[in-house]
Amino acid sequence: MSLCETCIFPGMCCRYFALQTEEGDWLNTTNYPTSRSIYEILRILKVPFKPLMIDKKGNWLFWCPNLKINGKCGDYEYRPKLCKDYKEATGKMCIYSEKCTQSTLSIKEKELAKTVNVNSP
Ligand code: SF4
Ligand code: SF4
Repeated sequence: MSLCETCIFPGMCCRYFALQTEEGDWLNTTNYPTSRSIYEILRILKVPFKPLMIDKKGNWLFWCPNLKINGKCGDYEYRPKLCKDYKEATGKMCIYSEKCTQSTLSIKEKELAKTVNVNSP
């Protein structure tokens, strides 16, 4: 049985989170100052996430409309690769992780990282 199946707060890892590239760049208001551009980035990344708010550091926080009320993914089979790669108890979003911040979810795919890196050609 996986940890997720016995989680005391299932789906906490999908409720709100920031996005970070492999290079460590955050999707924030410095790199992406308008809501229009952040929607464009989400479209390019092919993720279902929606902007929720901007945190104190200027980072965009997102929510996922696929999260069901019971904390399960409503599109589990076709969820984005970064969700598939996410490991419970190790990622910063998991409440069982020592590093838990509940606001970060890394983009692990290099192509995506390049896509969202404003310094890339
Ligand atoms: S990844 Fe962590 S917070 Fe998310 S459902 Fe699984 S155990 Fe819970
Ligand atoms: S697609 Fe599924 S696994 Fe990914 S953030 Fe949304 S609800 Fe969570």
